[in-house]
Amino acid sequence: MLSIDGSEGEGGGQIIRSALALSLATGMPFAIERIRAGRAKPGLLRQHLTCVDAARTMSNATVLGATLGSRALTFTPGPLVPGAYRFDIGSAGSTLLVAQAIVPALLVDGGAWSLELVGGTHNPSAPSFDFFTRALAPLLARMGAPITATLDRAGFYPAGGGVVRLDLAGGAQLRRLVLEDRGAIRDRRVIAAVSKLPLDIAEREAATATRLLGWGADAGAAVELRSPGPGNVVSIVVEAEHATEVFTAHGERGVAAEQVARSAVRECSAHLATEAPVGSHLADQLIVPMALGGGGRFVTVEPTEHTRTQLALVPRFVGRAPTASDRGDGTWLVEVPPRLAG
Ligand code: AMP
Repeated sequence: MLSIDGSEGEGGGQIIRSALALSLATGMPFAIERIRAGRAKPGLLRQHLTCVDAARTMSNATVLGATLGSRALTFTPGPLVPGAYRFDIGSAGSTLLVAQAIVPALLVDGGAWSLELVGGTHNPSAPSFDFFTRALAPLLARMGAPITATLDRAGFYPAGGGVVRLDLAGGAQLRRLVLEDRGAIRDRRVIAAVSKLPLDIAEREAATATRLLGWGADAGAAVELRSPGPGNVVSIVVEAEHATEVFTAHGERGVAAEQVARSAVRECSAHLATEAPVGSHLADQLIVPMALGGGGRFVTVEPTEHTRTQLALVPRFVGRAPTASDRGDGTWLVEVPPRLAG
């Protein structure tokens, strides 16, 4: 059984989710210790437990240590069982992070999958629904694995209760992905959304972001989302010829709308200042699906700890090590070898 030190690299939840996805896809069992050892609240949190529970349910896995706060977990998967599943995080924990733990394996495993995930859909420090559908999913589709993602209801911290549906036909031979340049920018817009808060907040955010970006007011939209609780999110979407990127900031009580807009703009501007088609978040999320298929390469910004953790974990399950090399112009090239047969 593969033994993983959960405190290595980024040392948070990501190593657990990626290990689950890789284990489901390869059938390799693993034992992880020192889970989130350096964090203020170490061990498994509710969102991680939902990931483990989803992976266990879908593969009839044998699991030890799946309790709240547990610092060690053993996971032995069985074969994935296609069908319709519903997983409720029971808090505002991120549904798209739960998707990270299972979707890469479903892409390559035969059978049709329908997932209903209940919890947060727009969470800080997690992929938002908009990032998932506009940035990540189109690249997975290009690799040969389209996913239909539907937002039935948005979920924000603290009320949660959002519902995301993901439908996909598994069994893809994931194609090699090559993303070396961004290409021309085809569309760019700011979408500011509120739930159970005055629309004026979103209008001010859209106006501030478009002004700071110099895009003209018609590039901004203020929308209302249906959700059980209040929430606010600003998404800046840059659709380029070869990849779409989404930059996100969330409203918080006591933080001015203009400040939320500025924070999304800062991320977007930093990205546009480089030639990289792939931003830092997309980078870490592409590595596992690429490693389970035909591999490939992409140009990105300096790898984050999340990306480095993925680079180190992948070869423990699928053989050959992906690499990241500095191109000396502020961009990096990530190269992922194709999955070895067998
Ligand atoms: P962790 O910190 O281990 O919970 O992992 C967070 C995951 O969410 C990583 O895959 C990040 O790339 C992703 N993530 C965090 N912030 C964003 C964001 N603003 N947009 C898209 N993905 C994000």
